[in-house]
Amino acid sequence: MRKKLIAANWKMNLTRETGVRLAGEVRRFVEKTALEREVLLAPPFPYLEAVRGAVLGSPVLLGAQDVSAHPPGAFTGEVSAEMLLDLGCARAIVGHSERREHGGESDAVVRAKTARAIDLGLGVILCVGEKEEERRSGREKEVVGAQLRAALAGLAARDIEAKVVVAYEPVWAIGTGKTATAADAEEMHAFAREVLADLAGGERAGRIRILYGGSVKPSNAGELLEREEIDGALVGGASLDGAGFAAILSA
Ligand code: PEP
Repeated sequence: MRKKLIAANWKMNLTRETGVRLAGEVRRFVEKTALEREVLLAPPFPYLEAVRGAVLGSPVLLGAQDVSAHPPGAFTGEVSAEMLLDLGCARAIVGHSERREHGGESDAVVRAKTARAIDLGLGVILCVGEKEEERRSGREKEVVGAQLRAALAGLAARDIEAKVVVAYEPVWAIGTGKTATAADAEEMHAFAREVLADLAGGERAGRIRILYGGSVKPSNAGELLEREEIDGALVGGASLDGAGFAAILSA
């Protein structure tokens, strides 16, 4: 049985004060409800330490929104896997479509970040997903399959199983209010699992979690999360509101 994971991607939002307050609300909700799901908060880098303080000693995990592909050294503005581990991060998001689009991140860069994080013992949430025109032309599986194969190329099967969570995030659904139907999402998750089976073996692939991301909100979280192939959610906009995020956590 794969334990569901609900991860909050705060993106470039909130302040130190509002972030700490929100983390405290999430912590209290998780502790009060003895939630059986795994919960991870990914605040902006400058707030990691403060948010860490707010969730320390609780089951709420800390995550980062990105990680450098490089070892510590002369890489201005970058944050290494070592630093994230030092701050208590369990995982880093890699390959988010906003970084692929605005940061010009190629599959090769996503692979390098994934490989380095895993090498250091930092887990990743590896984001993959097709753009609107790619879905319209029926290429969604080709695109997602290629992104997965590129990001995980050459990695040991046991590392993929132990350290990788995949997030299927159709780009046209991120921050747009449009959500994939639960049936469409499930079909893509099943396909992603086939690719993972090819890369890591069927048994290991069966233990890897595949999250759905793209305009998840309280009103659609239930129907998505009840699907067997959907092992959780990566939540952007709706994770910024404590009550709304709590509703998703318990959906
Ligand atoms: C995301 O940032 O990964 C995301 C899915 O955003 P949103 O929930 O706002 O669509």
